[in-house]
Amino acid sequence: MGEENKVEDEALQILGLFETLPRLVVFDLDYTIWPFYCECRSKREMPKLYPHVNGIISALKDKGIDMAIASRSPTADIAKTFLGKLEIQSMFVAHEIFSSWTHKTEHFQRIHRRTGVPFNSMLFFDDEDRNIDTVSKMGVTSILVGNGVTLGAFREGLTKFSQTSGSSSTSKSK
Ligand SMILES: [Mg+2]
Repeated sequence: MGEENKVEDEALQILGLFETLPRLVVFDLDYTIWPFYCECRSKREMPKLYPHVNGIISALKDKGIDMAIASRSPTADIAKTFLGKLEIQSMFVAHEIFSSWTHKTEHFQRIHRRTGVPFNSMLFFDDEDRNIDTVSKMGVTSILVGNGVTLGAFREGLTKFSQTSGSSSTSKSK
C-alpha cells in the first residue's frame, strides 16, 4: 500500500471515531496545506503538499464531507494554478482567496453564503493565530497548525469539534 493510501486509511479510521462530524472543513493554503508562500513562487513550478494532506482530503471526500479554502494570499492566480497542478481544485466547494484586513471574517461570511453551512458546523485549519482568533469568535472550531495539516492536527480538530458540539445547548437535537 502506498504511503498516501496509508494516510487516507488512517484518516478514515480517525473519522470513524466520532459520532459528530463537521459538515464543512476549511483549509488555509500557505503553511497549512503546502510549505511555502505561493506569492514567492512562480506559476511554472510544480508545488508539493505537506505529506499528509492528500490522504486527509481524500478521506474527507470519501466520507462525503465538503471542503473549502480560505486564504489571504495576494496571488490568487498562482494559488489556483497550483491547486490545478496538484489536481485538487475540484475537491473544494468554495475557493475564497483574496487579501483582507479582516483576518478571514469576510472569507467565512462568503463561504457561509455559498454553502449555507452554519459556522458551528465548520472545522478550520490555519497556521496564523490571529486568523484562528477571529474565526473561532464567529463560532467555527479552529485549529492552529504548526507544521501543516497532519493526521495529528486532523484528530485534534475532530476531537475539539465533537466536544464543542457536544457541549452546545442549542444544536444538540439528533
Ligand atoms: Mg497560512
